[in-house]
Amino acid sequence: MEQIKQTLQIVSIQHELAMSIGKSLHLESMLTNFFTTAQRRLSLNTIYLFYKPTNVEHESDPSQPNKQDYSYLCFPKQHESDTEQQGYLAQYLQPSALSDQTSTLQTIENKDKLFYIFSIPTFGWIILARLHSAIEPAILSALPPIFSRLAISCLACLEHRDLLIEVEARKAAEKMITRQIYTDTLTNLPNRKLLSVNLNKAIGTAKRNSNFGALFFIDLDRFKIINDTMGHGVGDELLVALAVLLKQCISEGETLARVGGDEFILLMPNISQDETKTITRAHSIAEELIKLVSQPIKLTDHTIYITLSIGVCVFPNQQTHTLPVQQASDAIIKNADIAMYRTKHNNRNGFHFFENAMETNAIQRANIEKQLHVALQEKQFELYYQPIVHPDGALTGAEALVRWNSPSLGMVSPAEFIPIAEESGQIIDISQWILAEACQFINQLVSMPNATNIDYVSVNISPRQFCHPHFIQQLQSTVNQYQTDLSRLRLEITEGVAIDDIETAVEKIQQLVDLGFQFMLDDFGSGYSSLSYLHKLPLCAIKIDRSFISNINTESSNQVVVNAIIDIASHFKLGCIIEGVESVAEVDYFKNKNIQAIQGYYFHRPMRAEAFLALLSNPSLG
Ligand code: C2E
Ligand code: MG
Ligand code: MG
Repeated sequence: MEQIKQTLQIVSIQHELAMSIGKSLHLESMLTNFFTTAQRRLSLNTIYLFYKPTNVEHESDPSQPNKQDYSYLCFPKQHESDTEQQGYLAQYLQPSALSDQTSTLQTIENKDKLFYIFSIPTFGWIILARLHSAIEPAILSALPPIFSRLAISCLACLEHRDLLIEVEARKAAEKMITRQIYTDTLTNLPNRKLLSVNLNKAIGTAKRNSNFGALFFIDLDRFKIINDTMGHGVGDELLVALAVLLKQCISEGETLARVGGDEFILLMPNISQDETKTITRAHSIAEELIKLVSQPIKLTDHTIYITLSIGVCVFPNQQTHTLPVQQASDAIIKNADIAMYRTKHNNRNGFHFFENAMETNAIQRANIEKQLHVALQEKQFELYYQPIVHPDGALTGAEALVRWNSPSLGMVSPAEFIPIAEESGQIIDISQWILAEACQFINQLVSMPNATNIDYVSVNISPRQFCHPHFIQQLQSTVNQYQTDLSRLRLEITEGVAIDDIETAVEKIQQLVDLGFQFMLDDFGSGYSSLSYLHKLPLCAIKIDRSFISNINTESSNQVVVNAIIDIASHFKLGCIIEGVESVAEVDYFKNKNIQAIQGYYFHRPMRAEAFLALLSNPSLG
């Protein structure tokens, strides 16, 4: 009877313990379940588990059990901090026992505690601690199969945990790769790819909700000049600072992306259901953006004033609403870009909304840029010379003016292609050619006895060319190559070269003046015109812009400005040249004024080199 009772008790313990295994895939809660049952059914004080974690790669010395090779768990949890106990038990753990096929059991008595150390092959040890009384041998012998099952469950939990860790690691890696694909590394802003994804979404939502949105194409003015003159480090720092500033304008659901060197796009997907309201709102946002950069930007070693050129495209619009999403998206970006170019053309620093008519212009621009690539090689440029005369009409100099006869576009005005060549950088090679031509022309004049009255030939220098880091060397190498008499060469610069960084401009000009070059300030009065820097620049003359000259004889406001400029020029001992004189009345206006020379259609139009030389031999041709 007693025997049956004990058997039933053992079966019941076995059953209950077996049932408490594997209820969770989380190791600790699975073990807690098991240990709670074991503690209750076997009247245990503590249960210890030493097991080999699945991710320990290195082989340990089997004769020297190293605690650190094993993970350790203890139940109840509060006994876990008893490291002395843990160390005490570890000395009885024989790793060689784990390689045996069957479980072994050691019993150790320590003070009032009895420890039953079960080794579980390939897994580890389970140690049961009981106070005062021993566990009955029959019960002890029933435990190894249960512990083997427990070990299998533990391994399953550990594998599951490793799998979870791996899945998490993969997810994190995927997230990082996705981030890299969609982020601009310099500014940490979304890049063009992410913008495109968000714009595609925005087009879809706008359609569904009959909403309007706006896309702002933002380009930093004169960034290339900053990069060329101050270095790429400063350029990068400026872009990061600008990104931080622009971010102030965006809210939830909007995207600010960097899509090119100095190009940013701001996407505002849901502005209003009313198109006019959307335009008004986009207007104030563009104004806000311009205002954001009106304060100087402080970088580590520089303080920089910048301006922005912005183009805005409101969508959906007539042109895009019937297109498939991707095409509509490309068209919206292109239209905003076109509108931005309009701003660039209109003296920069501002914004324009896209209008259909702009597109034709943009196509023409792109065409010009493309054709310019072959223009130099194919000798499509020619240098014309416009005579500059004394007030009495006698020749004193000439301005070299480039002409482009493109086989596909016809005659293209320099006013049209020079800004495009500036923007694309082609101006550097073109200018090099122009200077070489002008130097050869000067040499021709020097060799002609009837050209002694031609004091100089002036050559226009574009701002991009002026700011180029090798500007001085390039000039010098060309004039050295042709052994040009520098007293007969003048360089025309515009206010644009000085406005950004007057100190650097003055330094550069002074260096060249020291080498014998002479400078004139072209188109004076047309641009930013600041009299404050006039005296700082080492100039020999200024040329008053022709916008003041037309009808000067009747336009009293222009008279006031022109007279003031003539006075200032004479005050600073600068020669004063009047540009764009077209009528006898205009010539007469300057009769008794303190001016050095006149240039204008009234006297001569720009002409081929041969025509100019012919004019020297026979001035009556003019
Ligand atoms: P700019 O340097 O101010 O040149 C004077 C412009 O005014 C020339 O136009 C000339 O033909 C024009 N002009 C002269 N007299 C009169 C006049 O009485 N009435 C009118 N309506 N116009 C007159 P062009 O040759 O078309 O050149 C336009 C601009 O293109 C130049 O203005 C200059 O900024 C640029 N450019 C021309 N040639 C070169 C060049 O070789 N290099 C560079 N960098 N720029 C050039
Ligand atoms: Mg000029
Ligand atoms: Mg001019």
